[in-house]
Amino acid sequence: MAKKTALDLVVIGAGPGGYTAALRAAELGLRTALVERCSQLGGTCLRVGCIPSKTLLSSTEAYVYARDRLSQNGIAAKGFEIDLPRLQAHKEAVVEKLAKGIAFLMRQNGVHVWEGTARIAGPQAVAVELAEGKEILETRAILLATGSEPAQLPFLPFDGRLVVDSTEALSFREVPKRLLIIGAGAIGLELGSVWGRLGSEIVVVELLPRIAAGFSPIVAKALQRELEKQRMQFLLGARVTGAEIGEAAVTVRVEEGGKERTLAAERVLVAVGRRPHYADLALTEAGIRLTGSGRVAVDRFWQTSLPSIYAIGDLIEGPMLAHRAQAEGRAVAELLAGRPARVRYRNIPNVIYTEPEVASVGFSEEDLRAARHPYRRGTAYFQANGRALAADAPNGFVTVWMDEPSGKLAGLEIVGNRASELIGAGVVALETEATIESLAQAVPAHPSLMETVHEAMLAALSERRSGGS
Ligand code: FAD
Ligand code: NAD
Repeated sequence: MAKKTALDLVVIGAGPGGYTAALRAAELGLRTALVERCSQLGGTCLRVGCIPSKTLLSSTEAYVYARDRLSQNGIAAKGFEIDLPRLQAHKEAVVEKLAKGIAFLMRQNGVHVWEGTARIAGPQAVAVELAEGKEILETRAILLATGSEPAQLPFLPFDGRLVVDSTEALSFREVPKRLLIIGAGAIGLELGSVWGRLGSEIVVVELLPRIAAGFSPIVAKALQRELEKQRMQFLLGARVTGAEIGEAAVTVRVEEGGKERTLAAERVLVAVGRRPHYADLALTEAGIRLTGSGRVAVDRFWQTSLPSIYAIGDLIEGPMLAHRAQAEGRAVAELLAGRPARVRYRNIPNVIYTEPEVASVGFSEEDLRAARHPYRRGTAYFQANGRALAADAPNGFVTVWMDEPSGKLAGLEIVGNRASELIGAGVVALETEATIESLAQAVPAHPSLMETVHEAMLAALSERRSGGS
């Protein structure tokens, strides 16, 4: 028998967008419920995305460094072995610990978590299918945060065995001899790094003439060079036109530069993007509009075409990033509590966690040129940085762009060790609208990788050339 409960907010989906919104709403005194169909909270990011991938990346990076490079520095260790079940168990333990932490925060802040699949039952009602029946939650507002799922290629559907998505490629129980990856975006490059380090031969097929499309061509080229040194092979400007699935291998036809070739691999990872997930929500029945590309349409306050229903994260237009979903979740909770809130999308960083890492935030040089906006550029290299050399990580550089009229930081791009951490300095500077002159007054510790960011800022201050050149 269906029951009714009066609430201020029902959040559907406990990914980074949903759990952040629920937590903030509860902190602000709103009566909040969170509905999640999986028993483990945390969404794609925690269960099968950001965290498991970074756990495997960290362990495998340390393994390759210890195996191939450490002895040159005087620490000779022998007998490195890959214990894949243990590596996977470590990854799962990290995920479990964080998922429990989210559940604890929900309990501590009085967020009622329903384990079940939610459907919109009206502008102010959510129906939840529970293991033991159905519940109707009545609420002032609903937040849709149901995220995304891997996109498929029509002629290469996932079979969970040979043709896999990122979820399966995070959990291989054996190292594939040859792994063919379709798509040189964040997933292809990060998971290609993981399995390449563990011994797979990695071939990446990409439709565009370059890898890492979200980054500038200079950064993409620098990253490609480093990944090729790690024996990753790239077929760029190449289109997969068909495939034959055999007993133990897949043969893929690839068209490259007008020529067709075939490639065989033990496993194929299709990493050609993700699409919004709203299959169970009954969106169209509820009258919620979609955008031309099939995401949920929202206004600048994340309100859908039904004013009591909001949407955030991978479900709506924009880069599919966990920290963006979190920022939106927090903002919606603030708005519902009657407080001002905004997200400055330009200040959201983008990172790929390869070795070296690449990170960017703010305007790119291409943006500034296209807008004919005057700017100055400053670049500094890690090969001149004592900490980078001491840590055996001399590759890469930092480029900053200074807005010429105001002297403020306009953008920052980093290739190098810990770029994901260093980019935080650019995020803070952009958010506080700091000038490069004032940022250059700040003294970084010596020796530290931050000194290269500082050097790039000093270079921008002394750079004479301006925009468009
Ligand atoms: P999600 O995290 O997808 O969560 C949605 C939740 O809703 C899920 O738990 C789902 O079970 C639940 N749900 C769906 N429908 C219903 C329903 N009807 N009822 C109840 N529950 C429902 N981003 C980064 O910023 N950094 C990274 O390093 C990074 N690495 C990634 C690595 C991989 C391999 C992948 C796949 C993604 C990665 N991402 C990364 C992207 C990131 O995971 C997503 O952008 C982020 O998870 C989106 O958050 P969300 O809250 O919108 O949705
Ligand atoms: P993506 O959109 O980043 O990259 C997909 C790539 O596949 C693109 O370069 C595209 O040109 C290529 N492609 C598309 N169709 C193709 C085809 N038929 N043949 C060959 N290449 C083709 O998507 P992704 O790497 O699958 O990642 C999905 C989402 O998850 C992204 O939005 C990404 O931002 C997010 N993610 C983020 C991180 C991170 O922040 N570090 C890590 C993993 C995933």
